[in-house]
Amino acid sequence: MAAARRSLAWCSTDLAKHRSGSMSDPDQQPCALCLQNAELRDSHIIPEFLYQAVYDEKHRFLVVSSDPTEQPDLEQKGLRERLLGDCCEARLSRWEDYAKRVLSGEGVVFAKGTDFLTVTGVNYAKFKLFQLSLLWRAGISSRPVFAAVALGPHGESLRRMLLAETPGQTNDYGCTIVFPPEPAAQELFRHAISAPTVGRFRAHHVYRFLLGMLGWTFTVSKHMRELPSDHFSLGEDGVLRLFNGGPAMMNYLSGLTGEIVGANQARGVASSEGRRANRSLSPAAGARRRRSR
Ligand SMILES: [Zn+2]
Repeated sequence: MAAARRSLAWCSTDLAKHRSGSMSDPDQQPCALCLQNAELRDSHIIPEFLYQAVYDEKHRFLVVSSDPTEQPDLEQKGLRERLLGDCCEARLSRWEDYAKRVLSGEGVVFAKGTDFLTVTGVNYAKFKLFQLSLLWRAGISSRPVFAAVALGPHGESLRRMLLAETPGQTNDYGCTIVFPPEPAAQELFRHAISAPTVGRFRAHHVYRFLLGMLGWTFTVSKHMRELPSDHFSLGEDGVLRLFNGGPAMMNYLSGLTGEIVGANQARGVASSEGRRANRSLSPAAGARRRRSR
């Protein structure tokens, strides 16, 4: 819980001040984005369309914790929290609708390279604002599953960017999107969302989300503009590159695999795909792949 509280630390005096000032009317609370009093909605932390891809036939998906002592949970309603008023729900849903269309191939052109998929014709501002909103929401959520995302002062910078609808440069809170190279892993992770994890890349914090097969890694630091723009998936020229995650992603997934296979078996999904993926994702298999490179 300490970590969950830490993730709220961004929230700054601004929001705390507004919240304490609105105690007289319990139906009115400050919207986390515009800080205006509003009736707050049960907002999705992860946009609904990303769940569509991961729901199973019973409209369930797995939430895998980064804490190995916690069992994966089956969720049915998505991860929600009272955060935003209608004003800002509408703003975020515009960007979500756009990202959903891009990822389903509407109005853009997909091309397959050796190590990545390229999507051209993407509206940089809309897709980038969508990405920023994903990171920001995870950062302000008090749900334990998002506890690793502690943005500090960057939470407030992101809030201001979203409110002003300024997407920034490619390397401002840039995101690298990867897909698992092996079909068995794609199948295994199709119904899973992992708790975001935090790590380091050089002097930067990186926050990793696994959302229905795609890994989304955000880079956050004071020095993030030092990174070259081709480190990130989305360019200001409207080209989005989804990278093949290769052995690094397979190793990352191997840490989550045992839990997912177990949970899939418990709900009766599966399982030749699961067993096959489990074998291909085991640490021993990862070592074999590393040696063979
Ligand atoms: Zn608002």
